[in-house]
Amino acid sequence: MAASHLTVVSHAAEQRHLVLHRGVETPTREFRQLVGEIATLLAYEATRTLETEPVPVQTPLETMEGRRIPRDTIVLVPILRAGLGMVDAVAALFPNAGVGHIGLYRNEETLEPVSYYFKIPPLGADKVYLVLDPMLATGGSASAAIAKLKDSGARHIRLVSLVAAPAGVERMKRDHPDVPVFIAALDRELNEHGYILPGLGDAGDRLFGTQ
Ligand code: URA
Repeated sequence: MAASHLTVVSHAAEQRHLVLHRGVETPTREFRQLVGEIATLLAYEATRTLETEPVPVQTPLETMEGRRIPRDTIVLVPILRAGLGMVDAVAALFPNAGVGHIGLYRNEETLEPVSYYFKIPPLGADKVYLVLDPMLATGGSASAAIAKLKDSGARHIRLVSLVAAPAGVERMKRDHPDVPVFIAALDRELNEHGYILPGLGDAGDRLFGTQ
């Protein structure tokens, strides 16, 4: 478990990526790549404290004991659809990770999440679920997704988002104080449509070239 509820990862490389990433002129291909690069750095942090097990390694000179995260520990859970943009990069770090999907869309009037899809790999008491959603805005979707995961028996959950608003962080702290949150930037506020300011716009649209 991470030491505090919120970790803002302010690695210099990440900050540079974020500047590029926010820019309105950044084309889809580059935006996608930047989402992956930032997600990778965040996933390193989010898994820093995971337990490892010993594994023997034969080097060219002798045998030694290395460490590794036990196989099948990590499950990636992107919140559809923008979370999909983070999956490939994080799965490159953890090639054995299972991938679950949670489909939620935001009712644009109430700004509350509506669930339309939920499928996750078989549960295990020791599994660690990395919930992926680039934007932690009101926190409604992340909170609802995590509540559904918990209802299914998940115990160890971490939320990985690129950009957050204070309201989303507060909501997570209130609804899920046991779930550490890892972000690259804490932005100023939400606008009246629930978009993060200064933010980067609609992450799903920018990832998938829709409007
Ligand atoms: N979802 C987004 O994609 N962007 C925001 O600013 C808020 C929610």
